[in-house]
Amino acid sequence: MGARKKDETDAPADTITFLGTAGARFMVSKQLAASGGMWLDWNGTQVLIDPGPGCIVQATKRKLNAEKLSAIIISHRHLDHAADANVMVEAMTNGGFRKHGQLFAPADALGPEPVIFSYLKSYIEGITVLEAEKTYQTGNISFKTSARHTHPVETYGMVFAAAGQTVGYITDTRYFEGLAKSYAGSDLVIINMVLTEPRPIDHLSVPDVERLITALKPKTAILSHFGMHVWQARPWLVAEEMSKKTGIRVVAARDGMKFDLAQLKDIKAENDG
Ligand SMILES: [Zn+2]
Repeated sequence: MGARKKDETDAPADTITFLGTAGARFMVSKQLAASGGMWLDWNGTQVLIDPGPGCIVQATKRKLNAEKLSAIIISHRHLDHAADANVMVEAMTNGGFRKHGQLFAPADALGPEPVIFSYLKSYIEGITVLEAEKTYQTGNISFKTSARHTHPVETYGMVFAAAGQTVGYITDTRYFEGLAKSYAGSDLVIINMVLTEPRPIDHLSVPDVERLITALKPKTAILSHFGMHVWQARPWLVAEEMSKKTGIRVVAARDGMKFDLAQLKDIKAENDG
């Protein structure tokens, strides 16, 4: 369990690869940044989270092999999180010739207007409907869903756990009291930050994220899923400022960034004990 391994691409084990950092419509439709979601390779299990538009392009470009995926997890049905779900199911199952892998998604992503075509459903081993605050398992990784987020469609973030560590993924939501509670104790927290200033839409802004980081005190926070204004403010400068303000290590994701989870073991967190 947790042993570092080498695969044929010689990539380090236990990593999160960012297949995109664009959030919301304009960033995605103009592809100012890529929008392919995240690829978690941890504890000998590979999982794809939120395969947005271009996921297949980004994954193959980064030499990530979809046939090795144990699961595809979709936090909610919005296009920037689910557009490439179909092609990634095909890739995961070698075009349907190898029945394999699982799909996890909220009920409304699988309802009358599902994110995957019905003919692809027989390609995979199973579809699991995500509900609030439940624990699921795929390969050697378990994950617990958050409370339902405040977002126009049914949306859950999740806290992944393996090898004695936890990684929280705070997907799209409006800030609400109690949001941090779902992610308490996360060693690493990844936060979708669309806005610079709070606006009456269901997304997190810079001040919201500062509040979350201050409450959660993770060992590291990674910002991603940037809206146009965050992009214009340069995410790495926003992250630097946030590090100074909160005293917590904050990193802005970049397209293709491979975050090595092993480094978390070396950081003493204020939330320990
Ligand atoms: Zn959304």
